[in-house]
Amino acid sequence: MNFHIMTLFPEMIEHSLSTSILGRAMMKGLISFEAINIRDYSNDDKHHKVDDYTYGGGAGMLMQAQPIYDCYNAIIEKINQTRNEVVAENGENGLGGLPGAKRPRVVYVTPQGAVFNQQMAADFAKEEDLIFLCGHYEGVDERVLEEVVTDYVSIGDYVLTGGELPAMVMIDAISRLVPGVLNNDESAMTESFNNNLLEYPQYSRPEEWMGKKVPAILLSGDHKKVDEWRLEQSIIRTKERRPDLYEKWLAENPPKPEKKKRKRKKANPESISTADDTDNND
Ligand code: SAH
Repeated sequence: MNFHIMTLFPEMIEHSLSTSILGRAMMKGLISFEAINIRDYSNDDKHHKVDDYTYGGGAGMLMQAQPIYDCYNAIIEKINQTRNEVVAENGENGLGGLPGAKRPRVVYVTPQGAVFNQQMAADFAKEEDLIFLCGHYEGVDERVLEEVVTDYVSIGDYVLTGGELPAMVMIDAISRLVPGVLNNDESAMTESFNNNLLEYPQYSRPEEWMGKKVPAILLSGDHKKVDEWRLEQSIIRTKERRPDLYEKWLAENPPKPEKKKRKRKKANPESISTADDTDNND
């Protein structure tokens, strides 16, 4: 999967994305990042200007349409070129600029977008190429947004100085869902937000730390019981910390009335007994 990031601060992106898990994924050829400097596409040869005052007045500067549009076209051209090379080599179907072909999605990161979540990350992870546009200053001239953007996405209800951090947040979340990026693909399946539940509490060595013991059930070797305990903890935790998610989960998993077995589970739906679970008290 290839990420193309249009930005005024490419070094911000490049430094951050080339470390740790994403850096390794890049080395393995599973993902690639290219941060493209919008300033390089300014028509202003002297000062490489990319912003100007807003019509109608108001504070601050706005990123102009032309440099972004030219930058975008250069990216599309490059993607098409790469795809055509692949076609020439493998005889596969080319995409991009070819007739009837699919254009890559273009995400404008903006506080005015839909709020990013795990589902969106999974959806974006299916793309082969994904283009991000990072705004700065007061934002971007509306006309170029209309022309190129397919998705308006926010990272939350607050305003940042630029789109680089939001783009990196999204790229990080998307990348780790690309097959092979995480060492153990299973971990993406059991994680928070899968099925609208937060992940259960986890423990590593030692068995006892500061007088706190690892819940006995996790040492029992009984995988079925461990799974049950984890699901129960996930539910309790989600109910406590994210009642909004819990409601969604509940809607999809309505309680089964005739289930006698619930007695065990009744242990303590309200109170959390994470650290010293001594199996479910009856
Ligand atoms: N004047 C704009 C905010 C501009 S902030 C408004 O009121 O909507 C400058 C840039 O930072 C934006 O163009 C956007 O790319 C980025 N940005 C700021 N907050 C963001 C958020 N919560 N999510 C995603 N991008 C954000």
